[in-house]
Amino acid sequence: MPLHEPIIGLPDFKIISANGTNLIQIEAHYIGHNKCPHCASSNLRKKDSFIRQLRHHSIGISRSLLLVKTHKFYCRACRRYFRQRLPGVQPYQRATEPFKDQVALRHHGGTSLHKAAQDLGVGAATVERYYKGYLDTNASEHKSASCPKVLGIDEKHFTKKLGYMTTFADLKRHKVYDVTLGRSELSLREYVTKIPNRDNCKVVVMDMCEPFRNVAKMHFPKALIVADRFHVVKLINHHFLKTWAELDHVGRKHRGLLSLMRRHAWSPMKESSRENLRRYFAENPAIGAIYDFKQDLMKLILSRVYSKHDAKPLIREFLNKIRALKESKFGNLITLGTTLDAWKEEIVRMWRFSKTNSITEGLHRRMDEILNRAYGMRNFNNFRIRVKAFCG
Ligand SMILES: [Zn+2]
Repeated sequence: MPLHEPIIGLPDFKIISANGTNLIQIEAHYIGHNKCPHCASSNLRKKDSFIRQLRHHSIGISRSLLLVKTHKFYCRACRRYFRQRLPGVQPYQRATEPFKDQVALRHHGGTSLHKAAQDLGVGAATVERYYKGYLDTNASEHKSASCPKVLGIDEKHFTKKLGYMTTFADLKRHKVYDVTLGRSELSLREYVTKIPNRDNCKVVVMDMCEPFRNVAKMHFPKALIVADRFHVVKLINHHFLKTWAELDHVGRKHRGLLSLMRRHAWSPMKESSRENLRRYFAENPAIGAIYDFKQDLMKLILSRVYSKHDAKPLIREFLNKIRALKESKFGNLITLGTTLDAWKEEIVRMWRFSKTNSITEGLHRRMDEILNRAYGMRNFNNFRIRVKAFCG
Protein backbone atom coordinates (compact mmCIF):
# COMPACT_ATOMS: atom_id res chain seq x y z
CA MET A 1 0.00 0.00 0.00
CA PRO A 2 1.65 3.26 -1.01
CA LEU A 3 1.62 5.93 1.64
CA HIS A 4 -0.37 9.00 0.56
CA GLU A 5 0.91 12.09 2.23
CA PRO A 6 -2.10 14.48 2.29
CA ILE A 7 -0.25 17.75 1.75
CA ILE A 8 1.85 16.63 -1.18
CA GLY A 9 -0.88 14.36 -2.53
CA LEU A 10 1.51 12.00 -4.31
CA PRO A 11 2.35 8.47 -3.18
CA ASP A 12 5.41 7.58 -1.11
CA PHE A 13 6.69 10.99 -0.09
CA LYS A 14 7.60 11.99 3.42
CA ILE A 15 7.80 15.62 4.48
CA ILE A 16 10.97 16.57 6.34
CA SER A 17 10.25 20.28 6.76
CA ALA A 18 8.11 23.10 5.38
CA ASN A 19 9.03 26.80 5.44
CA GLY A 20 7.82 30.08 4.01
CA THR A 21 4.49 31.83 3.63
CA ASN A 22 4.03 33.13 0.08
CA LEU A 23 6.14 30.35 -1.31
CA ILE A 24 6.08 27.23 0.83
CA GLN A 25 9.23 25.23 0.42
CA ILE A 26 8.53 21.60 1.25
CA GLU A 27 11.52 19.45 1.82
CA ALA A 28 10.58 15.83 1.22
CA HIS A 29 12.06 12.40 0.83
CA TYR A 30 10.91 9.70 -1.49
CA ILE A 31 10.46 6.56 0.57
CA GLY A 32 9.13 4.26 -2.14
CA HIS A 33 10.90 1.43 -3.85
CA ASN A 34 13.56 2.21 -6.43
CA LYS A 35 14.17 0.03 -9.43
CA CYS A 36 15.98 0.21 -12.71
CA PRO A 37 13.80 1.64 -15.54
CA HIS A 38 15.63 -0.52 -18.09
CA CYS A 39 15.49 -3.97 -16.50
CA ALA A 40 13.37 -3.44 -13.36
CA SER A 41 16.10 -4.82 -11.14
CA SER A 42 16.44 -3.61 -7.54
CA ASN A 43 20.10 -4.43 -7.33
CA LEU A 44 21.26 -0.82 -7.35
CA ARG A 45 24.13 1.25 -6.12
CA LYS A 46 23.91 4.96 -5.26
CA LYS A 47 26.42 6.96 -7.24
CA ASP A 48 25.41 10.54 -6.56
CA SER A 49 22.69 12.54 -4.88
CA PHE A 50 21.19 15.92 -5.62
CA ILE A 51 18.15 18.04 -4.72
CA ARG A 52 15.43 18.23 -7.32
CA GLN A 53 13.35 21.43 -7.25
CA LEU A 54 9.81 20.95 -8.47
CA ARG A 55 6.96 23.39 -8.69
CA HIS A 56 3.99 21.85 -7.00
CA HIS A 57 0.30 22.74 -6.69
CA SER A 58 -0.72 25.61 -4.40
CA ILE A 59 -1.54 25.09 -0.76
CA GLY A 60 -4.35 27.51 0.07
CA ILE A 61 -3.30 30.66 -1.74
CA SER A 62 0.44 30.05 -1.37
CA ARG A 63 2.51 28.55 -4.11
CA SER A 64 4.60 25.57 -3.21
CA LEU A 65 7.97 24.22 -4.18
CA LEU A 66 8.95 20.62 -3.59
CA LEU A 67 12.60 19.93 -2.72
CA VAL A 68 13.27 16.23 -3.10
CA LYS A 69 16.58 14.55 -2.50
CA THR A 70 17.09 12.17 -5.44
CA HIS A 71 19.89 9.93 -6.56
CA LYS A 72 21.77 8.77 -9.54
CA PHE A 73 21.94 4.99 -9.51
CA TYR A 74 24.02 2.32 -11.07
CA CYS A 75 22.20 -0.88 -11.95
CA ARG A 76 24.30 -3.91 -11.20
CA ALA A 77 22.10 -6.17 -13.29
CA CYS A 78 22.27 -4.33 -16.64
CA ARG A 79 25.22 -2.08 -15.83
CA ARG A 80 23.53 1.09 -16.76
CA TYR A 81 23.22 4.44 -14.99
CA PHE A 82 19.95 6.21 -14.42
CA ARG A 83 18.39 8.98 -12.42
CA GLN A 84 15.77 8.07 -9.89
CA ARG A 85 12.16 8.38 -11.10
CA LEU A 86 9.52 10.00 -8.90
CA PRO A 87 5.79 9.33 -9.05
CA GLY A 88 3.79 12.23 -10.52
CA VAL A 89 6.89 13.77 -12.09
CA GLN A 90 7.98 13.28 -15.68
CA PRO A 91 11.68 12.94 -16.47
CA TYR A 92 13.50 16.25 -17.05
CA GLN A 93 10.48 18.27 -15.85
CA ARG A 94 10.74 21.01 -13.27
CA ALA A 95 7.10 20.82 -12.29
CA THR A 96 4.93 18.01 -10.97
CA GLU A 97 1.93 16.75 -12.94
CA PRO A 98 -0.55 18.09 -10.32
CA PHE A 99 0.97 21.54 -10.78
CA LYS A 100 0.53 21.33 -14.57
CA ASP A 101 -3.07 20.29 -14.08
CA GLN A 102 -3.63 23.21 -11.74
CA VAL A 103 -2.25 25.67 -14.30
CA ALA A 104 -4.28 24.13 -17.13
CA LEU A 105 -7.49 24.07 -15.12
CA ARG A 106 -7.05 27.68 -14.04
CA HIS A 107 -6.88 28.75 -17.68
CA HIS A 108 -9.65 26.34 -18.67
CA GLY A 109 -11.89 27.79 -15.98
CA GLY A 110 -11.81 31.23 -17.52
CA THR A 111 -8.62 33.00 -16.39
CA SER A 112 -6.69 34.54 -19.26
CA LEU A 113 -3.29 33.16 -20.17
CA HIS A 114 -1.43 36.14 -18.76
CA LYS A 115 -3.38 36.32 -15.51
CA ALA A 116 -2.95 32.59 -14.90
CA ALA A 117 0.77 32.94 -15.59
CA GLN A 118 1.03 35.85 -13.16
CA ASP A 119 -0.94 34.09 -10.41
CA LEU A 120 1.05 30.90 -10.53
CA GLY A 121 4.46 32.36 -11.21
CA VAL A 122 5.17 30.87 -14.61
CA GLY A 123 5.52 32.29 -18.12
CA ALA A 124 2.55 32.66 -20.45
CA ALA A 125 4.17 30.26 -22.91
CA THR A 126 4.40 27.66 -20.14
CA VAL A 127 0.70 28.01 -19.37
CA GLU A 128 -0.05 27.50 -23.03
CA ARG A 129 2.18 24.41 -23.21
CA TYR A 130 0.59 22.84 -20.11
CA TYR A 131 -2.87 23.66 -21.41
CA LYS A 132 -2.14 22.05 -24.75
CA GLY A 133 -0.98 18.91 -22.97
CA TYR A 134 -4.17 18.92 -20.94
CA LEU A 135 -6.35 19.36 -24.02
CA ASP A 136 -4.51 16.65 -25.93
CA THR A 137 -5.23 14.10 -23.22
CA ASN A 138 -8.88 15.17 -23.15
CA ALA A 139 -9.33 15.35 -26.93
CA SER A 140 -7.95 11.86 -27.46
CA GLU A 141 -11.09 10.53 -25.76
CA HIS A 142 -13.22 12.09 -28.52
CA LYS A 143 -11.36 10.71 -31.51
CA SER A 144 -13.43 7.61 -32.02
CA ALA A 145 -16.80 9.26 -31.36
CA SER A 146 -19.27 8.13 -34.00
CA CYS A 147 -21.82 10.38 -35.66
CA PRO A 148 -24.57 11.63 -33.28
CA LYS A 149 -28.17 10.53 -33.76
CA VAL A 150 -29.60 14.04 -33.87
CA LEU A 151 -27.20 16.38 -35.60
CA GLY A 152 -27.52 20.16 -35.68
CA ILE A 153 -25.67 22.07 -38.41
CA ASP A 154 -25.17 25.80 -38.10
CA GLU A 155 -22.70 28.40 -39.27
CA LYS A 156 -20.72 30.88 -37.26
CA HIS A 157 -18.29 33.65 -38.08
CA PHE A 158 -14.73 32.83 -37.03
CA THR A 159 -12.30 35.55 -38.11
CA LYS A 160 -12.13 38.19 -40.80
CA LYS A 161 -9.29 36.37 -42.50
CA LEU A 162 -10.61 32.81 -42.31
CA GLY A 163 -14.29 33.69 -42.60
CA TYR A 164 -17.03 31.33 -41.50
CA MET A 165 -16.99 27.95 -39.85
CA THR A 166 -19.63 25.27 -39.50
CA THR A 167 -20.63 23.73 -36.19
CA PHE A 168 -21.87 20.17 -35.94
CA ALA A 169 -23.73 19.77 -32.67
CA ASP A 170 -25.02 16.68 -30.94
CA LEU A 171 -28.50 17.94 -30.06
CA LYS A 172 -29.32 14.98 -27.87
CA ARG A 173 -26.37 15.42 -25.57
CA HIS A 174 -26.21 19.22 -25.92
CA LYS A 175 -22.59 19.06 -27.01
CA VAL A 176 -20.42 20.11 -29.91
CA TYR A 177 -19.58 17.16 -32.11
CA ASP A 178 -17.07 19.07 -34.19
CA VAL A 179 -16.30 22.37 -35.87
CA THR A 180 -14.84 22.82 -39.32
CA LEU A 181 -13.68 25.81 -41.29
CA GLY A 182 -15.80 27.04 -44.20
CA ARG A 183 -19.48 26.78 -45.00
CA SER A 184 -19.43 26.11 -48.72
CA GLU A 185 -20.67 22.87 -50.15
CA LEU A 186 -17.19 21.90 -51.25
CA SER A 187 -15.49 22.41 -47.89
CA LEU A 188 -18.33 20.71 -46.03
CA ARG A 189 -18.37 17.74 -48.35
CA GLU A 190 -14.68 17.19 -47.76
CA TYR A 191 -15.19 17.19 -44.01
CA VAL A 192 -18.41 15.19 -43.87
CA THR A 193 -17.05 12.22 -45.79
CA LYS A 194 -14.59 11.67 -42.94
CA ILE A 195 -17.28 11.34 -40.24
CA PRO A 196 -17.50 7.70 -39.11
CA ASN A 197 -20.84 5.81 -38.90
CA ARG A 198 -22.91 8.34 -40.80
CA ASP A 199 -25.78 5.86 -41.02
CA ASN A 200 -26.16 6.29 -37.30
CA CYS A 201 -27.59 9.77 -37.88
CA LYS A 202 -31.41 9.85 -37.90
CA VAL A 203 -32.23 13.56 -37.90
CA VAL A 204 -30.33 16.59 -39.18
CA VAL A 205 -31.55 19.99 -38.01
CA MET A 206 -30.36 22.97 -40.06
CA ASP A 207 -31.19 26.52 -40.97
CA MET A 208 -32.57 27.08 -44.44
CA CYS A 209 -29.27 26.99 -46.23
CA GLU A 210 -28.96 25.25 -49.58
CA PRO A 211 -25.38 23.91 -49.26
CA PHE A 212 -26.19 22.29 -45.90
CA ARG A 213 -29.19 20.55 -47.38
CA ASN A 214 -27.29 19.29 -50.42
CA VAL A 215 -24.52 17.89 -48.26
CA ALA A 216 -26.97 16.27 -45.85
CA LYS A 217 -29.01 14.69 -48.66
CA MET A 218 -25.95 13.18 -50.23
CA HIS A 219 -23.98 12.06 -47.19
CA PHE A 220 -26.57 11.28 -44.54
CA PRO A 221 -28.81 9.00 -46.59
CA LYS A 222 -30.75 7.64 -43.63
CA ALA A 223 -31.39 10.96 -41.92
CA LEU A 224 -34.50 13.15 -42.09
CA ILE A 225 -33.74 16.78 -42.74
CA VAL A 226 -35.62 19.13 -40.45
CA ALA A 227 -35.69 22.92 -40.68
CA ASP A 228 -34.70 24.80 -37.59
CA ARG A 229 -37.62 26.51 -35.85
CA PHE A 230 -35.42 29.31 -34.62
CA HIS A 231 -34.24 30.26 -38.11
CA VAL A 232 -37.66 29.91 -39.72
CA VAL A 233 -39.15 32.34 -37.21
CA LYS A 234 -36.25 34.70 -37.75
CA LEU A 235 -36.69 34.58 -41.51
CA ILE A 236 -40.43 35.27 -41.35
CA ASN A 237 -39.94 38.19 -39.00
CA HIS A 238 -37.20 39.58 -41.21
CA HIS A 239 -39.34 39.64 -44.34
CA PHE A 240 -42.37 41.05 -42.58
CA LEU A 241 -40.41 43.88 -41.03
CA LYS A 242 -39.00 44.69 -44.47
CA THR A 243 -42.50 44.80 -45.93
CA TRP A 244 -43.65 47.01 -43.08
CA ALA A 245 -40.77 49.41 -43.78
CA GLU A 246 -41.87 49.51 -47.42
CA LEU A 247 -45.37 50.55 -46.36
CA ASP A 248 -44.50 52.93 -43.53
CA HIS A 249 -40.79 53.65 -43.13
CA VAL A 250 -41.46 56.22 -40.37
CA GLY A 251 -43.47 53.84 -38.22
CA ARG A 252 -40.88 51.09 -38.76
CA LYS A 253 -38.28 53.25 -37.03
CA HIS A 254 -40.47 53.65 -33.93
CA ARG A 255 -38.81 51.40 -31.42
CA GLY A 256 -41.76 50.70 -29.16
CA LEU A 257 -43.87 49.78 -32.14
CA LEU A 258 -41.09 47.61 -33.56
CA SER A 259 -40.89 45.61 -30.37
CA LEU A 260 -44.68 45.10 -30.39
CA MET A 261 -44.78 44.06 -34.05
CA ARG A 262 -42.07 41.50 -33.48
CA ARG A 263 -43.83 39.79 -30.62
CA HIS A 264 -46.14 36.84 -31.00
CA ALA A 265 -49.77 37.87 -30.55
CA TRP A 266 -50.22 35.21 -27.87
CA SER A 267 -47.26 36.31 -25.75
CA PRO A 268 -48.04 38.45 -22.69
CA MET A 269 -48.49 42.11 -23.53
CA LYS A 270 -49.71 45.10 -21.54
CA GLU A 271 -53.26 46.20 -22.30
CA SER A 272 -51.99 49.71 -23.15
CA SER A 273 -49.55 48.21 -25.67
CA ARG A 274 -52.33 46.21 -27.29
CA GLU A 275 -54.37 49.40 -27.49
CA ASN A 276 -51.43 51.17 -29.17
CA LEU A 277 -51.20 48.43 -31.76
CA ARG A 278 -54.95 48.55 -32.40
CA ARG A 279 -54.83 52.31 -32.90
CA TYR A 280 -51.90 52.02 -35.29
CA PHE A 281 -53.67 49.35 -37.34
CA ALA A 282 -56.83 51.45 -37.46
CA GLU A 283 -54.78 54.18 -39.14
CA ASN A 284 -52.93 51.70 -41.36
CA PRO A 285 -55.33 48.89 -42.23
CA ALA A 286 -52.97 47.39 -44.82
CA ILE A 287 -50.27 46.87 -42.18
CA GLY A 288 -52.88 45.44 -39.85
CA ALA A 289 -53.83 42.84 -42.44
CA ILE A 290 -50.21 41.85 -42.97
CA TYR A 291 -49.70 41.66 -39.21
CA ASP A 292 -52.66 39.32 -38.81
CA PHE A 293 -51.38 37.18 -41.64
CA LYS A 294 -47.97 36.95 -40.01
CA GLN A 295 -49.46 35.98 -36.67
CA ASP A 296 -51.46 33.17 -38.29
CA LEU A 297 -48.40 31.98 -40.17
CA MET A 298 -46.27 32.05 -36.99
CA LYS A 299 -48.84 30.07 -35.10
CA LEU A 300 -48.95 27.52 -37.86
CA ILE A 301 -45.17 27.27 -38.11
CA LEU A 302 -44.82 26.76 -34.36
CA SER A 303 -47.55 24.15 -34.04
CA ARG A 304 -46.78 20.69 -32.71
CA VAL A 305 -48.35 17.50 -33.99
CA TYR A 306 -48.12 13.97 -32.67
CA SER A 307 -49.26 11.94 -35.66
CA LYS A 308 -49.37 12.08 -39.45
CA HIS A 309 -53.15 12.35 -39.30
CA ASP A 310 -53.03 15.53 -37.18
CA ALA A 311 -50.59 17.11 -39.61
CA LYS A 312 -52.83 16.84 -42.68
CA PRO A 313 -55.13 19.86 -42.15
CA LEU A 314 -52.13 21.94 -41.07
CA ILE A 315 -50.26 21.05 -44.23
CA ARG A 316 -53.20 22.18 -46.35
CA GLU A 317 -53.31 25.47 -44.48
CA PHE A 318 -49.57 25.90 -44.82
CA LEU A 319 -49.69 25.38 -48.59
CA ASN A 320 -52.49 27.98 -48.83
CA LYS A 321 -50.35 30.44 -46.91
CA ILE A 322 -47.40 29.85 -49.22
CA ARG A 323 -49.63 30.45 -52.25
CA ALA A 324 -50.98 33.66 -50.69
CA LEU A 325 -47.45 34.89 -50.05
CA LYS A 326 -46.34 34.15 -53.60
CA GLU A 327 -49.38 35.92 -55.02
CA SER A 328 -48.96 39.07 -52.91
CA LYS A 329 -47.63 42.24 -54.51
CA PHE A 330 -44.75 42.78 -52.08
CA GLY A 331 -41.29 41.68 -53.17
CA ASN A 332 -40.24 40.58 -49.71
CA LEU A 333 -43.31 38.45 -49.16
CA ILE A 334 -42.85 36.79 -52.54
CA THR A 335 -39.26 35.95 -51.60
CA LEU A 336 -40.44 34.54 -48.30
CA GLY A 337 -43.11 32.47 -50.07
CA THR A 338 -40.54 31.06 -52.48
CA THR A 339 -38.15 30.13 -49.67
CA LEU A 340 -40.88 28.49 -47.61
CA ASP A 341 -42.02 26.62 -50.70
CA ALA A 342 -38.51 25.30 -51.33
CA TRP A 343 -38.25 24.13 -47.72
CA LYS A 344 -41.84 23.05 -47.11
CA GLU A 345 -41.04 19.39 -46.42
CA GLU A 346 -38.33 20.27 -43.90
CA ILE A 347 -40.63 22.78 -42.21
CA VAL A 348 -43.52 20.34 -41.93
CA ARG A 349 -41.16 17.80 -40.32
CA MET A 350 -40.31 20.42 -37.74
CA TRP A 351 -43.78 19.96 -36.21
CA ARG A 352 -42.83 16.48 -35.10
CA PHE A 353 -39.40 17.24 -33.62
CA SER A 354 -38.66 19.14 -30.47
CA LYS A 355 -34.92 19.64 -30.96
CA THR A 356 -33.86 22.99 -32.36
CA ASN A 357 -30.61 24.70 -33.11
CA SER A 358 -31.13 26.99 -30.12
CA ILE A 359 -28.86 24.44 -28.48
CA THR A 360 -26.25 25.16 -31.12
CA GLU A 361 -26.73 28.89 -30.59
CA GLY A 362 -26.00 28.33 -26.89
CA LEU A 363 -22.87 26.42 -27.79
CA HIS A 364 -21.84 29.30 -30.05
CA ARG A 365 -22.01 31.59 -27.07
CA ARG A 366 -19.61 29.35 -25.22
CA MET A 367 -17.32 29.38 -28.24
CA ASP A 368 -17.37 33.16 -28.10
CA GLU A 369 -16.26 32.91 -24.49
CA ILE A 370 -13.29 30.82 -25.59
CA LEU A 371 -12.42 33.42 -28.22
CA ASN A 372 -12.80 36.27 -25.75
CA ARG A 373 -10.64 34.59 -23.16
CA ALA A 374 -7.84 34.22 -25.67
CA TYR A 375 -8.45 37.79 -26.96
CA GLY A 376 -9.22 36.31 -30.38
CA MET A 377 -7.61 33.38 -32.11
CA ARG A 378 -5.90 33.06 -35.43
CA ASN A 379 -5.19 29.38 -35.54
CA PHE A 380 -8.33 27.41 -36.26
CA ASN A 381 -6.86 24.12 -35.11
CA ASN A 382 -6.02 25.51 -31.68
CA PHE A 383 -9.55 26.83 -31.47
CA ARG A 384 -11.01 23.48 -32.47
CA ILE A 385 -9.05 21.62 -29.80
CA ARG A 386 -10.34 24.06 -27.18
CA VAL A 387 -13.92 23.79 -28.39
CA LYS A 388 -13.82 20.03 -28.20
CA ALA A 389 -12.45 20.09 -24.68
CA PHE A 390 -14.77 22.84 -23.49
CA CYS A 391 -18.05 22.15 -25.29
CA GLY A 392 -17.54 18.61 -26.52
ZN1 LIG B 1 19.00 -2.40 -14.96
